Amino acid sequence: MERDIERVLISRERIAERVRQLAGQITADHSAAEDGQIAIIPILTGAMIFCADLIRHMPLRMRIALIAVSSYPGASVRSQGASLLSRRLGDLRGRRVLVVDDILDSGQTLAKVVPIVQGLGPVSVKTCVLLRKDRLAARRVAINYVGFDIPDEFVVGYGLDYDDYYRNLPDIVTLKPAVLAKVKKP
Ligand code: 5GP
Ligand code: MG
Repeated sequence: MERDIERVLISRERIAERVRQLAGQITADHSAAEDGQIAIIPILTGAMIFCADLIRHMPLRMRIALIAVSSYPGASVRSQGASLLSRRLGDLRGRRVLVVDDILDSGQTLAKVVPIVQGLGPVSVKTCVLLRKDRLAARRVAINYVGFDIPDEFVVGYGLDYDDYYRNLPDIVTLKPAVLAKVKKP
């Protein structure tokens, strides 16, 4: 895995520091919430690691709901359009919801997920992404919390995959062009 890395874009130390800051900000913004009113929804699979770290710095009584979306099936490096894979959202009426994703690219994933969540009658829906790509489509999306703005490059690690691999890399990295070219769909 290590030898496939081209360069480290964001180190694990910088990620940890920023995640702690974001969690502090989100916690402060939700301090008026009633006890247990908050629901956190990571968009699986990519947001799993980010969300796990984030919520452990948020000392609030919360529930976790789940939704799984796929937009980069197999070995693709551009969005193929977001499709809903599964959901376990439960009753969101009266809740203050935070939707968490790994990266904001074309905006199609949030455009798919947010209306579904809104349709379940929560009090409010806020959005949080760790990364936002430097492209017009991403900047046009209204988003409440952003960890890092990054160049418009394909990245993996810290939850982000290529062909479903590399999610467990602790840093956010780019892959060598030869690796991206080599991987073939089964
Ligand atoms: P969007 O729907 O905004 O185009 O993209 C969001 C989803 O696409 C993310 O949840 C992520 O799964 C995937 N994605 C977008 N950009 C990248 C990237 O640079 N690397 C990886 N691994 N996934 C990405
Ligand atoms: Mg993905």
